[in-house]
Amino acid sequence: MSLLVQRVAETLSSHGSLAQAVPGFQPRAGQTDMAMAVCQTLEQGGQLVVEAGTGVGKTYAYLVPVLLSGQRALVSTATKALQDQLFSRDIPRLVEVLGLPIRVALLKGRSNYLCLHRMEQARHSAEAAQPGAQRALAKIETWSQATRTGDMAELSGLDERSSLWPLVTSTRDNCLGSSCPRYRACHVNLARKEAMASDVVVINHHLFFADMAVRESGVAELLPTVRVTVFDEAHQLNEIGVNFLGQQLSTVQLLELSRDVLATGLQLARGLVDWHALTDRLEKSSRDLRLAAGMHRGSVRLRWTDAVPEGVESAEWTPALQNLVQALEQTQSGLETVVELAPDFQRLFERARELGQKAALFSNAPDPEGVRWAEVSAQLRLVESPLDIAQAFSALTKSVQAPLALDDEDPSNPESIQALMAGDPCRDGAPQALGAAGGVGQRAWVFTSATLGDEPTLRWFTEPCGLTSAQVMQVTSPFDYARQAALYVPEHLPKPGDPGHAGHVAQLVVEAVELLGGRTLVLTTTLNAMRSIGEYLQTRLDPAANVEVLVQGQSPKRRLMERFREGAGDGRAGCVLVASASFWEGFDVPGNALQLVVIDKLPFPPPGDPLFEARSQRITREGRSAFADHALPEAAVALKQGAGRLIRSETDSGVLVVCDTRLATMSYGRRLIRGLPEMRRLNGHPEFLSTLRQLTTDATSSTTS
Ligand code: SF4
Repeated sequence: MSLLVQRVAETLSSHGSLAQAVPGFQPRAGQTDMAMAVCQTLEQGGQLVVEAGTGVGKTYAYLVPVLLSGQRALVSTATKALQDQLFSRDIPRLVEVLGLPIRVALLKGRSNYLCLHRMEQARHSAEAAQPGAQRALAKIETWSQATRTGDMAELSGLDERSSLWPLVTSTRDNCLGSSCPRYRACHVNLARKEAMASDVVVINHHLFFADMAVRESGVAELLPTVRVTVFDEAHQLNEIGVNFLGQQLSTVQLLELSRDVLATGLQLARGLVDWHALTDRLEKSSRDLRLAAGMHRGSVRLRWTDAVPEGVESAEWTPALQNLVQALEQTQSGLETVVELAPDFQRLFERARELGQKAALFSNAPDPEGVRWAEVSAQLRLVESPLDIAQAFSALTKSVQAPLALDDEDPSNPESIQALMAGDPCRDGAPQALGAAGGVGQRAWVFTSATLGDEPTLRWFTEPCGLTSAQVMQVTSPFDYARQAALYVPEHLPKPGDPGHAGHVAQLVVEAVELLGGRTLVLTTTLNAMRSIGEYLQTRLDPAANVEVLVQGQSPKRRLMERFREGAGDGRAGCVLVASASFWEGFDVPGNALQLVVIDKLPFPPPGDPLFEARSQRITREGRSAFADHALPEAAVALKQGAGRLIRSETDSGVLVVCDTRLATMSYGRRLIRGLPEMRRLNGHPEFLSTLRQLTTDATSSTTS
């Protein structure tokens, strides 16, 4: 047994340092099993994929081995919430308990940091002339004198959605890189330098893929050189990765370019080029292309397998796109005449050229290996992406250690990504590695999440991520689901395709919520169902039930979750929250405040989604069943995530209601139920209501005792 394995086992044991220092820490067999597998991966290299059910304690199961190994590591999360939790709570606590001299850094995407150069320019922009903007800008300027990190989160009162935000932060497009007059003091640059000097860097998947997909102009050191990478919330890797590895052209990018060219031209080269004429044409051609995509309600994705997006008039689209290509060429020509005057013009020229190349790409036929679509809302976004990240990611994760001078990196090239992520684990200043963990060789990759598939091979996750030869393990939740939770499928409800379905779901929710006094989360598969159920509850719930109805979108997610957590205590009303989309995961309310989760329909991927369809077609071409091998696993994973909101601790209890009769009547329903934790089944409405009454009685007695 290696020294690392011994130290980790001891730390997680009933007499270990965690049990002594962390209130409520209990050794858990699943956590120790996972930690041992992580140790093995750290020592031998390779890829480990772990699905760790709710309550396993997976964060400590990877953090303890990683920190004790002394190796440099990247820990990546899907959400900012977990990123902040790891950096501000979990890692500092472990570093203190384990007594390790470890430097930890948090690295966010560039839009989270103040851009000093753009802040100085913002004074001259049209937005800054808006009422209130001058005052807000003055506040930012004052703060900029005092901040060390430039992290915009320090600045209270400025919302990310504010129109000032993009004026004082940078994008990859508008950053001047090493040509910037404020490069030495640049907060993005300094944050990256700090990360480079740290032993553990907490990043997010967006940042990881942004680095993988593009070369940052003039900013050479992107991520530190590491041998160990851990992805938590790994179930989101494929979707986030596909987004970054594809090509995108949007009217937002085009209009921003037009605005920046006009502002910079007038400020630094007035009279040398007809900036108004140049940018008017660019702006008009962008808007004309959006108009050519037609009128649609809300946001739609149009399939694009031929010369033009489906349903779009070729006679309008083709000349509009051609016009845009020409407008971008003219913009480049105009900028080329002044590039010598200021680095700003050089960067604008590069932006115009990149967008011109994309416009040319979308003028040609789609790549048969990928998928292309047009996303139409008030804006227009053209997307061409790979179907998954398998190719790029398998090359990356299978590479062996090959240190590289970071200045030579080219993150758009998978070969250089391999080198970028390779590293020297024993560099000066790193805590000493334990056992064999510091050895050179294959890099170590750990992927974990509470939901990575609906069967033991975790193929739903490993295949699209190119991890088919990874070591895979499932660690089941320590919760006693058979005792703590019940599943009810109301078979008296109409079929999910029935137009009255949402109304019947709403009636069931009203009855249940009045019995329980709130404490209910309703998860819908569409925004329409969410609105109609929300409205029904708001108008029909008996005021005497003293239940507050919350609907997604009323307040930020964090605020809704806080209100929900407060529950019905201290004379406050209990809550029912109706939500869709992001609330299917990451909604964490342990205790009696949440005892009923109602799911309106089985969460099959939306029909007509171009990415889903292209993936299905590929599976069919491979001779497999698109339903059994794609649609069903997608639904199973989403259902598991939604159901996972119910039981969040050993003492929780509650009922999961799935208002979709297909779960009970169709043969595939059995597979979906097998993918869920093993809960007691409720047979019929009377048993459902009596279970709710029992929950109410138990909750009342636990509050009064
Ligand atoms: S280097 Fe880029 S991010 Fe930094 S101050 Fe300059 S423009 Fe802004």
